Amino acid sequence: MKIICIGRNYAKHIEELANERPVSPVVFLKPDSAILPRKNPFFIPAFSKDVHYEVEVLVKINKVGKHIDAKFGHKYYDEIGLGIDFTARDVQAVCKEKGLPWEKAKAFDGSAVIGSFYPKKEFDLENLNFQLYKNDALVQDGNTSAMLWKIDELIAYVSQYFTLKKGDVIFTGTPAGVGSVQENDVLKGVIEGREAFSIRVK
Ligand code: ZN
Repeated sequence: MKIICIGRNYAKHIEELANERPVSPVVFLKPDSAILPRKNPFFIPAFSKDVHYEVEVLVKINKVGKHIDAKFGHKYYDEIGLGIDFTARDVQAVCKEKGLPWEKAKAFDGSAVIGSFYPKKEFDLENLNFQLYKNDALVQDGNTSAMLWKIDELIAYVSQYFTLKKGDVIFTGTPAGVGSVQENDVLKGVIEGREAFSIRVK
């Protein structure tokens, strides 16, 4: 399986990092080795002094598809989840400055937290509330209505480039409130009142 990530999909997050508003979705990949195994703590990698959490709504692809029209996007997923796109912000800053790819900053081991998935029919996908708590303090509070590109539009966009396969996961971008993690932090993700994951940082 592959993990397809969308960057800069919420206007307030673009502002907080002083990024340009993209004219099309920003896309990058993580390998399956980036997935943090269930119940494992997240270890801050030695190559970074500034690892950030980014809570994101996840979409699990349910069948093969390419060149999918946005109006059929909904047929390619039944489940929605929540996860974290861990980002070595200091490493990413160097990549951005030099125009280099982001993989070292975003695709390292453990950088993809994939929490629980739930049937999409239980949610209003256009108005889905999700939160990240760091040590029980609310740090990110998002709603999918603020996405620049909706889930079905993202499926249409990325499937022009990559054949989607059953089991692939799309990270749909983070809202504002990203910040760094420290040893012993506990990060808890909540989607519509349900705890999707709880991760300890080491
Ligand atoms: Zn992200």
